[in-house]
Amino acid sequence: MTPSRNHTLFDQARAVIPGGVNSPVRAFGKVGGTPPFIESASGATLRDADGREYLDFVGSWGPMLLGHAHPAVIGAVVEAAQRGTSFGAPTEREVGLARRVVEMVPSIEKVRFVNSGTEATMSALRVARAATGRSGMLKYRGGYHGHADAFLVEAGSGAATLGVPDSPGVTPGTAADTRTAEYNDLDDTRRLLDDGRVACVFVEPVAGNMGCVPPAPGFLEGLRELCDATGTLLVFDEVMTGFRVAPGGAQERFGVRPDLTTLGKIVGGGLPVGAFGGRTDLMDLVAPAGPVYQAGTLSGNPLASAAGNAALAFIAEHPELYTHLEALGGQLDDGIARIRGTHGYPLTWNRVGSMASLFLTEGPVTDWPSASAGEAERFTRFFHGMLAEGIYLAPSPYEAWFLSLAHTESHMDRLLTALERTLATVF
Ligand code: PLP
Repeated sequence: MTPSRNHTLFDQARAVIPGGVNSPVRAFGKVGGTPPFIESASGATLRDADGREYLDFVGSWGPMLLGHAHPAVIGAVVEAAQRGTSFGAPTEREVGLARRVVEMVPSIEKVRFVNSGTEATMSALRVARAATGRSGMLKYRGGYHGHADAFLVEAGSGAATLGVPDSPGVTPGTAADTRTAEYNDLDDTRRLLDDGRVACVFVEPVAGNMGCVPPAPGFLEGLRELCDATGTLLVFDEVMTGFRVAPGGAQERFGVRPDLTTLGKIVGGGLPVGAFGGRTDLMDLVAPAGPVYQAGTLSGNPLASAAGNAALAFIAEHPELYTHLEALGGQLDDGIARIRGTHGYPLTWNRVGSMASLFLTEGPVTDWPSASAGEAERFTRFFHGMLAEGIYLAPSPYEAWFLSLAHTESHMDRLLTALERTLATVF
């Protein structure tokens, strides 16, 4: 038998990279086993180092709305690379990308580009603190806003998966400035904003890092009112939802305008881009327009800007993309309802557009306690069952599944068939 390249590579990786990976959940630590090392991807398919193919529902954790190696994005990157990969000086491309973001995202009047969602959130927080003169920040249990210190308090996503929602290395002083409320709970939020010491509320307008949890009707509107009443800024972390749940993100879909917005993932078309933006008066606090320092050697990088521009141009020119994604999502809604009805399994399916999660519990799942109620061991069996069927899902119950333009009706049929077979082995 030929030795597995995945195994060999993982052994080599662990010798030189902590845990063998550059972002924790990739290591399959909680579900066990060797992660496939991906050699190439096209459309909705990943191919690993052993030549095995998977139908992908991770989409690089969100960026690949158009599918892998989309020709418009690849063409733009190749063309840009031939003219040089980094200048550390302004370029026309980044102006183009900024104009697109301003056109597409309802509340953004000005935007600054960075290299990741984490940089976007930590910079937006600094602006909010400077604008209000307050130190406090409110986030939601199970919400993930990247790995900057202020946000690693009751954090979701990989931090929750690994069991380090409050990471060692975050000083007690920093953690003390972060308050946490229960998602979808306006009373809890009101109580924590009452003393007027919170600079901003950071919220995923559709939570995606405790699995997918939609905002309850009135929750986002209620947050807007509470923030206005207490002089607190409202920040929508749309790193995941931006350009995904609507061309203008969750703020377009739900009709609520935040003061500041953070973006990542899709805005870079699969290259490292993050962004934060909002009202002109707030964004003009950012250096060199104002005193709030924020900078980056590779920010607005020409390759990343080219990829982002190509992705956003495609999205703006093909609004029917969202109809396609909605139809695929509807097919899954029906299929999962049928599986649930036929077998009586305790399942909760949450979906907003092309982001969704299947919780292996009765539900409803509306907040962190209900999102984290499932048994870890059952999820592990589910995950490995699906992987054996050739379905690539995130190796954690606290992540969303993503649909892309490259998915088809027959892919949904494949997913549903695999689900029905796998669920029969876990319940
Ligand atoms: N905010 C949200 C809502 C996210 O989902 C993520 C990443 O998953 C981040 C921020 C951090 O982005 P990045 O991983 O690019 O630093």
